[in-house]
Amino acid sequence: MLTIYSADHQLHHGQCELIDGQLLPCFEKPERADIILARLETRQLGPILPAQEYGLAPIARVHDQGLLDFLRSAWSRWAALDQPGDLLPYTWPTRVLGQQKPASVHGQFGYYSFDAGVPITAGTWQAVYSSAQVALTAQQHIMAGEKAAFALCRPPGHHAAADQIGGYCYLNNAAIAAQAFLDQGYRKVAILDVDYHHGNGTQGIFYDRQDVLFVSIHGDPAAEYPFFLGYADETGVGAGEGYNLNLPLPAGSGWQQWGAALERGCQRISDYQPDVLIVSLGVDTYEDDPISCFRLTNADYLTMGQRIAALQLPTLFVMEGGYAVEAIGINTVNVLEGFEGR
Ligand SMILES: [Zn+2]
Repeated sequence: MLTIYSADHQLHHGQCELIDGQLLPCFEKPERADIILARLETRQLGPILPAQEYGLAPIARVHDQGLLDFLRSAWSRWAALDQPGDLLPYTWPTRVLGQQKPASVHGQFGYYSFDAGVPITAGTWQAVYSSAQVALTAQQHIMAGEKAAFALCRPPGHHAAADQIGGYCYLNNAAIAAQAFLDQGYRKVAILDVDYHHGNGTQGIFYDRQDVLFVSIHGDPAAEYPFFLGYADETGVGAGEGYNLNLPLPAGSGWQQWGAALERGCQRISDYQPDVLIVSLGVDTYEDDPISCFRLTNADYLTMGQRIAALQLPTLFVMEGGYAVEAIGINTVNVLEGFEGR
């Protein structure tokens, strides 16, 4: 399987995040992608190719222009204020507040985000732009006839909505790739999100559409981030009714429960008969992940890849989460090796 990678991800390196009452170094850090890349090379999975340039147009098919303008300009506006540290949002237009877009960079960051897990640093825009180009390049290889490809995206994307960022995610790489498939003639795309956290951004982008089926297996949002989306009764709206399948599972779930949910998700995808499958590949379902509560083992990721391969669909893997960095390479590449039948 070929991999698409851009070293630009290293330009994004946030300093800290607020978690469990503490300010800690960011869990979403450059080592994640570097370790996956090293594992791909060790296992000789296939060629590792650079990202090509597809510009902003395919990104703007999914994301709000105001958000894109904000992301491109935020760092220079922040640097002009001569403040220490990264730019972080800290006020959001919640239920009791108005919904207008203020003039200040702080106010606009609140307007365009839903949590504080999205530091903006000097290199953030270049990194997130290149991460989207990685996904688009892999998408083009599938269009050209590749059976499968791995987009080693960083930062991840599945929490990013059309006009709001959060949860380490800025641009929704999987959604951008899905829309590109449709714009280039495919009729139906299925997205299977196996990250520990619900893909709230992806769900929201396609919630009223039937040309993208969204299936997500994740920690129950009643107890787990992103808390406000991901419930089983969210099934789509309007033309999209019936094209959103959430499979939340309780903390502590291991392969027995997770594999059963995967089976349900795969059945729905088979019934849908998509032209292509996109897998939002997070491996924070791992038993030793520092911020998650499932119990998948190294070997379970091989089985996961095998089951996905049995769908017999052209498949684009897009990297999402996974924070047990010592195991992220093994677990990620195990899914790809399982898929390849190695
Ligand atoms: Zn996650």
